[in-house]
Amino acid sequence: MTILSIPALIMAVVAFYISGYHLLIYFRRPESRVDLTFAFTALCIGFYDVCCVALYNATSPLEGVQIQRWQLISLSFLSISYVWFVVDYTSMKSRFGPWFFSGVFIIFALIGFFDKSGLAWTDQSLIKNFQFPFFGWDITYYEMEFGKAMLWEAFMLMVFYLYLYLVAVHFYWNKNPKRAKPLALAIGIFFLGMTEDVSVALGYYSFIYTIEYAFMGMVLVMAYTLSSEIVERTKIKQELRDSEAKHKTMIANISDVIAILGTDSTIKYKSPNIEKWFDWLPDDLIDSKGWDTVHPDDLERIQKEFFDLLDQDGSVKTVEYRYKCKDGSYKPIELTAVNLTKDSTINGILTNYHDITERKKAETEIRTLNRDLELRVHQRTVQLEEANKELEDFVYSVSHDLRAPLRSISGFAEIIDRRHKASLNEEGQHYFDNIVKAGRQMGDLIDDLLQFSRLGRKAIKPEPVALDDVVKSATETLADIIKKTDARINIPEQMPVIQGDMTLAIHIFVNLLENALKYRKPNELPIIDMGVEADNRYVEISIADNGIGIESEYHDKIFKMFQRLHSQADYPGTGIGLAAVKKALQMMGGEVFVESELGKGSVFKVRLLKATAA
Ligand code: ADP
Repeated sequence: MTILSIPALIMAVVAFYISGYHLLIYFRRPESRVDLTFAFTALCIGFYDVCCVALYNATSPLEGVQIQRWQLISLSFLSISYVWFVVDYTSMKSRFGPWFFSGVFIIFALIGFFDKSGLAWTDQSLIKNFQFPFFGWDITYYEMEFGKAMLWEAFMLMVFYLYLYLVAVHFYWNKNPKRAKPLALAIGIFFLGMTEDVSVALGYYSFIYTIEYAFMGMVLVMAYTLSSEIVERTKIKQELRDSEAKHKTMIANISDVIAILGTDSTIKYKSPNIEKWFDWLPDDLIDSKGWDTVHPDDLERIQKEFFDLLDQDGSVKTVEYRYKCKDGSYKPIELTAVNLTKDSTINGILTNYHDITERKKAETEIRTLNRDLELRVHQRTVQLEEANKELEDFVYSVSHDLRAPLRSISGFAEIIDRRHKASLNEEGQHYFDNIVKAGRQMGDLIDDLLQFSRLGRKAIKPEPVALDDVVKSATETLADIIKKTDARINIPEQMPVIQGDMTLAIHIFVNLLENALKYRKPNELPIIDMGVEADNRYVEISIADNGIGIESEYHDKIFKMFQRLHSQADYPGTGIGLAAVKKALQMMGGEVFVESELGKGSVFKVRLLKATAA
């Protein structure tokens, strides 16, 4: 055997090995035909390489041409196998091209095998002799000149590989670029090898092994690609197995039981953790009806919910009912169901549920506690109301009883002041003035207290009250002070009608306007601006003055009883007025607050119910 045939022999062995390997894969996985067609392709390449080995050992053109015939047959079957391999690899739909080329190559194989007329090979011997490029070896091998049919076959092969190349390009653009790349590379290698071989065969230049190299390259590229895909598929399978194991563990360890029901409530799946909560084994319930575990008293309601759910694909419902355990007892559960009848993986109703015994217990406890609390609050409110009423009655009767003796003290003091003051010395007169002043102050205090406690005793019947009348009455009451202080009060042209009590409303406006006049700056004439705002339910009346203002920390305090910010000498008063305003407003469902800064005047805002809203 010539040394030149060794590389071809090695390539033949590799091709057979790859062919056998893919044949085995095909037998293990017959659903994937690509391994079969690839195994055939590699097998034909192996045969072709064996033919090359034989050709390099031929000793005459006559012997050579016999081997060339076998070479041609391998080449034809190789082309047929390869086109079907490409069909499988690209999942190509069109079968016209593959059948056409299969037919063409079968014809060429037949011509090559049977023709003796010189159509395939002429009787001109072709003894090729050339210098091996590396070791200076002199190489001779024996062939016959190509006949017409062989030239046509060479041409058809070029067309064939061009066609395959176009298939690969189409596959690249329209389907799977990642898989198309190695295919295009393999066909490219093939095409180059073929072109070169044809050139060598036509005697343009001399070289050996070209086509064997091209075939080997193609086989290796595709074998590598297919085996990478197998490795990837195995990896994916493993990942799938891992992920399934993970999901199983997750489902077994969550506190919710998971189930799948058919549209007639037949149980198709139950997660194994049901045993932990309700004692059932999944197999106890599979194929039974979901209704069987519903408490009879809940059944009608649950069936209705179930059929409502079935009506709408993808809808979700959460229900609570009593679930039957294996020992026949019932546990309250909360169950969420999703309609996945259109989902091909579930194809039914997916439910998850859990035991809510503890929650139910807690809810009952909370309800009992709430009831107790409500009762206690009610009792305490009644007690407070009674205590408050007693206090108010006490304040009323004390102020009422104090008024008579105080009047007589003040009356006698005034008599003394008129008739006998001159007989007192200066110090005596001073003390006596103080007695008169304190008497008046105490009188004011008692009057205010009486008024305040009368508010609480007044039964009010809300009715529409025109604020125009209220403000008019208030300004009339305060006419003397307004005149004395030379004050200007700007009243909106039209005031709204509120829902409340006329007397209380007058009381409120008298108090606020009186304060606005009283707490004026010493050297400034008082200017009071009244404003109105309204929404659907309330009207808000603002009374803005240009007086001394109030520091923000006292904005809440001034509405409390006896809270005053000034001495009697600076601004006399009792500290009851604003508390009474607040109380009167509360009685009418309104409120009062102040916006003010020290030295910059104050705005008192009163919110009252609108007449129409009542
Ligand atoms: P009184 O006016 O009898 O002292 P009020 O309850 O009417 O009692 O007022 C409480 C305190 O709020 C007053 O002592 C005063 O310091 C402050 N105040 C009320 N109205 C005004 C106002 N318009 N400007 C500045 N301070 C005010």
